[in-house]
Amino acid sequence: MDMNRLKFAVILTGLPVFVMIISIITNAILSKKHKLNDYIKQFQSSFDWVNFTILSSALFLLNFTFFPLLQAQEKSQIESTSIGIAFIILLVGLSPILFPLIVLIRTSKYEVDDELELLVNKEMNTTIKIRVINQNVVNAFATGVLPFTNIILIGAPLLKQFTSEELKAIIAHEIGHTIKRHMLYLTLLMILIQISLLLLHQYVVLPLILLNKLNWIFKGVSFGILFVLGNEIFSFFQKKTEYSADKFAAETVGINNYAEVLKKLNTVTGGQLQNKTATHPTLIERLEYIKS
Ligand SMILES: [Zn+2]
Repeated sequence: MDMNRLKFAVILTGLPVFVMIISIITNAILSKKHKLNDYIKQFQSSFDWVNFTILSSALFLLNFTFFPLLQAQEKSQIESTSIGIAFIILLVGLSPILFPLIVLIRTSKYEVDDELELLVNKEMNTTIKIRVINQNVVNAFATGVLPFTNIILIGAPLLKQFTSEELKAIIAHEIGHTIKRHMLYLTLLMILIQISLLLLHQYVVLPLILLNKLNWIFKGVSFGILFVLGNEIFSFFQKKTEYSADKFAAETVGINNYAEVLKKLNTVTGGQLQNKTATHPTLIERLEYIKS
């Protein structure tokens, strides 16, 4: 057994988990209203061991398979860059492609609601699958980068706490994401950012470090700075997609109706929509935008 190969696969598979833990902690520190405990509770209620195991195993397998290719010494720089690019595409694309398939297979966890699906698709003139997450998740998501795997997920508590008119507004936001293909564009954007970072690091930063005989610490620090920069760029565009989905929902169900549902969602989630996050604009920013 090649220990380096195993180490590489374990570290790279664990990296998303590590980033997630760091982001929960920084969120808790940055936000004054919420304590770390609340974030952990919120995380626990949305966590799913089966999904985590399937996605982690797939990720581990990908990393383990690619290690010898990334390592091979006798390759030219162009060859190793191409392998790096192929690796990034598979790595970033893995869960956006795999997750909807898991949803379609796990029918007891992600339940079909024929009535709701029919109602929404008829009114909005779409053919999008709707699944109810059988768990204490007070949220809704759009998923699927491939056209036939477009699924809208709604947490079961929302069905109890919102009227069917209000649910329509929540779902309209997710349909906005789906119709405008936001998940596909965001996945492609992430691939583009990661490839740019790879090229920048390999052809600009590393040669500079070698030329100036700088310490290995600079390698790590420069990579960290590029990583944060990449995340900032991604977050900027992700927020744009949220505004765009809000606009779509407001046009579909009416600006005032939609604004009221956003406010209610904020109350139901204990003020979560008010907080500044990397993925969503704040409630005030969203309300201002749909009224503009
Ligand atoms: Zn959204």
